[in-house]
Amino acid sequence: MRKVYLCLAHMSGNEMKYIQEAFDTNWVVPLGPNVNAFEEDLERFIGGGKKVVALASGTAAVHLGMIGLGVGKGDEIICQSFTFAASCNPAIYLGATPVFVGSEEKTWNLDPNKLEDAIKDRIKVTGKKPKGIVPVYMYGMPAYIDEIMEISQRYEIPVLEDSAEAFGSLYKGKVVGTFGKYGIMSFNGNKMITTSGGGALICPDEETKRQAMFYATQAREDKPYYLHEKIGYNYRLSNVCAGIGRGQMTVANDHIRHHQRIAKMYETAFADNEIVRMHVAPESYMEPNYWLSTITFETKETNAPYIDEGNGIEPCEMVLKTMKALSEEGIESRPLWRPMHTQPVYKDAPSYVDGTCEKLFRKGLCLPSGPCVTDEDVERTINIIKKVVKQ
Ligand SMILES: *Cc1c(COP(=O)(O)O)cnc(C)c1O
Repeated sequence: MRKVYLCLAHMSGNEMKYIQEAFDTNWVVPLGPNVNAFEEDLERFIGGGKKVVALASGTAAVHLGMIGLGVGKGDEIICQSFTFAASCNPAIYLGATPVFVGSEEKTWNLDPNKLEDAIKDRIKVTGKKPKGIVPVYMYGMPAYIDEIMEISQRYEIPVLEDSAEAFGSLYKGKVVGTFGKYGIMSFNGNKMITTSGGGALICPDEETKRQAMFYATQAREDKPYYLHEKIGYNYRLSNVCAGIGRGQMTVANDHIRHHQRIAKMYETAFADNEIVRMHVAPESYMEPNYWLSTITFETKETNAPYIDEGNGIEPCEMVLKTMKALSEEGIESRPLWRPMHTQPVYKDAPSYVDGTCEKLFRKGLCLPSGPCVTDEDVERTINIIKKVVKQ
């Protein structure tokens, strides 16, 4: 049976050339010509004069971005609740507290109204402003970033965009991750492009890039010996992995187009289905990369108010049934991210939510979308889902 995965790494064929170069020139270290050239490729790709620091992971990028915002012990930082844990865990690394804010139903991302309520309330409760705002572009879907930036400017609280899943997604023609003070990228094995593992921090200028590099390389002061006035990290991307990244950049746009074409297939197939709804851009000025295509099941059961019987929130029956049917045919699928404010590890964190992301988590499913997924795979997936919901 052919196994179909959500999003597997796919090589262009150009990667080995750059890796070979690293070996031939003995740059088998966390710096070198591939790292510099990969950063230049990425800067060209995102545009807007932004600077990029290549790192060992996307999580490292979130961590260094938070340091760039000045987040430290005892601070609060506002994070989108509906996301993967890497968006907010670095706040804990820094001794800070994430304040979770819910999503709106259209993009599934940070709700600007709830964001403003949360800021006002935190100022009232703690007497000081949160140090930053971390919106996320879930599955590559742009957020209402203009509205979020307006609030950011009005309250003078900077934004760190978690654009890990949104490589190449556009908002009003501009690449997401370039709106706030910082943005991030992830090159993990399952993302839009990969370096096996890796990430990058998008910085506003040379000075902030220099500061991020300083923290990414053990915070070594400018002396002939090792002098440390700050605590640093070992977060630079290896020159070998950056070679993979350079090869991937030669096909990045093809990857994005492939994901978008698959999303279109799902959208067309479910357009007149009464139960299955494909999650598509709610505005014409949002152009998602559709890193993962996602659907929701719309029935009385899936939209019923959820009663937590003490075990925490779970996906609804129809999601579990569909996952099982797909899995029996070798097809991988996955529920949406379980909101952070419902995670046991974050049970004490303040949250400003209204049930929207809980409901989406209950009724949503991620479908195979990557460069190894064929048209036949998509058709099989669609047919199985249609059969399950008809039962
Ligand atoms: C993948 C991901 C990250 C972290 O990236 P890694 O490279 O895996 O550390 C951060 N945020 C979100 C939303 C992600 O999906």
